[in-house]
Amino acid sequence: MVKSYDVVVAGAGPAGAAAAAVLAGRGLSVALVDRAEHPRPKLCGGLLTAKSVEALARVFGLSPADLAERGGLFHQTPRYLFLHQGRELLAGAAAEPFRFVDRPDFDALLAGVAVARGAEYLPGRAVEACDAASGLVRLRGGGELAGRFVIGADGANSVTRRALGPGGPGGFDRAAWGRNLAAAIEVELPVGGGPGQFPREVLAPELHVGAPNVPAAGYGWVFPGPRGPKVGICGLRRAERDGRGFAAIFLDFLRLLGVAEPEGVALHGHPLPYGNALARPASGRLILAGDAGGFVEPLFGEGIFYALATGAHAASAALCGLKDGEAAAAVEYGRLLARTVRPELVWSNRLRWLLFGAMRHFGAGPIRGFVKSAPAALAEMVHGRRSFGLLTRKTWEWGEGVGT
Ligand SMILES: Cc1cc2nc3c(=O)[nH]c(=O)nc-3n(C[C@H](O)[C@H](O)[C@H](O)COP(=O)(O)OP(=O)(O)OC[C@H]3O[C@@H](n4cnc5c(N)ncnc54)[C@H](O)[C@@H]3O)c2cc1C
Repeated sequence: MVKSYDVVVAGAGPAGAAAAAVLAGRGLSVALVDRAEHPRPKLCGGLLTAKSVEALARVFGLSPADLAERGGLFHQTPRYLFLHQGRELLAGAAAEPFRFVDRPDFDALLAGVAVARGAEYLPGRAVEACDAASGLVRLRGGGELAGRFVIGADGANSVTRRALGPGGPGGFDRAAWGRNLAAAIEVELPVGGGPGQFPREVLAPELHVGAPNVPAAGYGWVFPGPRGPKVGICGLRRAERDGRGFAAIFLDFLRLLGVAEPEGVALHGHPLPYGNALARPASGRLILAGDAGGFVEPLFGEGIFYALATGAHAASAALCGLKDGEAAAAVEYGRLLARTVRPELVWSNRLRWLLFGAMRHFGAGPIRGFVKSAPAALAEMVHGRRSFGLLTRKTWEWGEGVGT
């Protein structure tokens, strides 16, 4: 039997939860399907910028205090560090704090809000296939769901995205997607002097660039973590140095940071869309949001905000489409993306190639100049108060159905 809904949301991460929360809040029938059950593991640094905090308030009605009480917010600090080749370039302060969440609890909280508003949560059900024209979603192990719209929010390895191509209605280009996909590795280490331990406490986020063992088009990070510092690298695979794999590069990075005998550390990896936001993320009844649509900022790899924003925009587009048809939904989604996230992704991509290119040819000089000339503006750019486009003031716009 096929069960029908106004909207089927595939994936209950931040993008899917945002979409489901907006739509269920408007009284629509919504299925929120996920192959896992919350709280589920999720590899992520968990850094929230100020624009993510704004999105959480608008979409879910959650403040930082709510997150601290219910959703795994465990640390905040206005300090940050930029390091080149392991040496400090800049210790900066931002007007607004960087906040850190533990993703399993955070994601569970967001999905819980969608369910409290009336979404039907279907955990442990993997989407196997989706048809963009009919809105039919087939589940692994049997069963089908029908949506007047389907929001594909099933992450970087999205199954719903396959409905766009190759050669399909959205013209999804698998080769281009692969070229811009970053590899990311991240581990959480206990503090201590022993093998596989991190040698110091970490209270402020650190970004590491330019070390020979950090990928050319990518960077390393050390973030405060809920159980110990989180250390990670991400970079485009085509930027791998000397044909060395990411695991070897990452072990070198751990050595640079003073971790003894890092070979014994269990490594975890996950792909990160890193400059591959889809040009046409909506087709027929299908709208892709979050990592599934490639909506990650391609300089710092920030994805939580873009998942929240595109999830909410996809919901607004579906609301429009339920009134005026599929074509109207695609137009509205395109309009919201063009007014909000798309310019940021385009400009941060340009800045990425400018900075990494300059670093390759001239070493730390250009990046030192960039970072030191305007540390507060840099933080404002990351927080979303200024645009990546020439540092102009930025305000974020939200579509129909998204609260204030
Ligand atoms: C190592 C690493 C560190 C990162 N650090 C940060 C950071 O500090 N700050 C930041 O802003 N961003 C960070 N990001 C990016 C961020 O994690 C992602 O951009 C964000 O999680 C995207 O949210 P999403 O909802 O689109 O996808 P996801 O969070 O991946 O959620 C997708 C959901 O879909 C489900 N799913 C998958 N396949 C199926 C299927 N077939 N059927 C049903 N359900 C399915 C999954 O179980 C999951 O719950 C990091 C990414 C990586 C890899």
